[in-house]
Amino acid sequence: MNLKILKKIQKTIEHAKNSELYKKHLDGINGEDIQSYEDFQKLPFTEKKDLQNSYPMGISAVDNKDIVRIHSSSGTTGTPVIIPYTKKDLEDWAKMFKRCYEVAGVTNEDIIHITPGYGLWTAGIGFQLGAELLGAMTIPLGPGNTSKQLKMMKDLKSTVLTATSSYALLLGEEIEKCSIKEDIHLKKALIGSERWGKKMRERIAKELGVELYDIYGLTEIYGPGIGISCKYESGMHIWDDYIFYEIIDPKTNERVKKGEVGELVVTTLEKEGAPLIRYRTHDLTREIEDDCPCGLAYPRIDTLIGRSDDMIKIKGTILYPSSVDQILSEVEGASSEYQIIIDHLNGRDILTLFFETELEDEEDIKKLEREIVNRFKDRIGFTPKVISVGFKDLPRNEKKSTRIFDNRY
Ligand code: ZN
Repeated sequence: MNLKILKKIQKTIEHAKNSELYKKHLDGINGEDIQSYEDFQKLPFTEKKDLQNSYPMGISAVDNKDIVRIHSSSGTTGTPVIIPYTKKDLEDWAKMFKRCYEVAGVTNEDIIHITPGYGLWTAGIGFQLGAELLGAMTIPLGPGNTSKQLKMMKDLKSTVLTATSSYALLLGEEIEKCSIKEDIHLKKALIGSERWGKKMRERIAKELGVELYDIYGLTEIYGPGIGISCKYESGMHIWDDYIFYEIIDPKTNERVKKGEVGELVVTTLEKEGAPLIRYRTHDLTREIEDDCPCGLAYPRIDTLIGRSDDMIKIKGTILYPSSVDQILSEVEGASSEYQIIIDHLNGRDILTLFFETELEDEEDIKKLEREIVNRFKDRIGFTPKVISVGFKDLPRNEKKSTRIFDNRY
């Protein structure tokens, strides 16, 4: 932890204590108590439930008159989280987002097609802010109405698509189906942070005919735009002048060794409205140590491996969703889409994997199912039930896809 970051952290701690949340959370702790990482790691984590418990404005560290906007993250468990932004927070977010576009080689001559949702969700408006600061033309469509999306994409000659991976895939499949690829002018796609496998990536790149960039962020910490992959596709550069991150073992809460997989924990360094200290993202990733060939000095984290709460413990083994992506990417005939259902029957855990296939011959399908079972058994250590469904039978979502349904609890 260098001196510059240390100073910013001390300042953030002092400022955060203006909020109800951190007044309690950091009771008795002063900024100057933190003189090293060793001191810092003694600070308590902030969990999403702390933010939920602070509903509506307990996170705010400024006067209401200084807040210019709120966003809200969708809590899966009822109470939403409200994140207030000051004018400076929005400016900082736009600067970070502009930097993302620049790393992806997007310029003010591009036409940016924005499909993530607008409103309380941070995604659409974040892509918008950054693009406007860059000076590019934007088409703020938001999600849905695919035929209109395609019409505008053709008529206005969109060159950059911004989307979730599921929606990019849906658009790609639709372009293929309507045979309009030659009317589409897309060159790049910036895909919102969602864990997505190699196979899905390849399909989106091929069907849309684009270079892909992974953009990272979450509503609690500005929104998307706090980091992005560069053209070398070697993890995502993180804007460490705004964000201090740690990667910890989600079980022991200790920092993992460099390069090991763990949970990303974020502390904001500049945020006024809703500063966060040691916020647990539950996103699993690892730090990439070597220098990036692109020459950017911003540190990198790997493409997301999954969520620490998606790590499934079954039959004494830990299953990461990324392992399933990997298996499906290695077999011919399976699409990238799948669903997993886990049940507890007669005292045993049973995992059922549904995957899509375009194969029609029953013998071929049986063979493919057996191959997936074998690879699963070799790689993960137990035998799943594997069931094929038709191509496109599994849902494609405009937001993030839910792929794992654990019915055991
Ligand atoms: Zn790079």
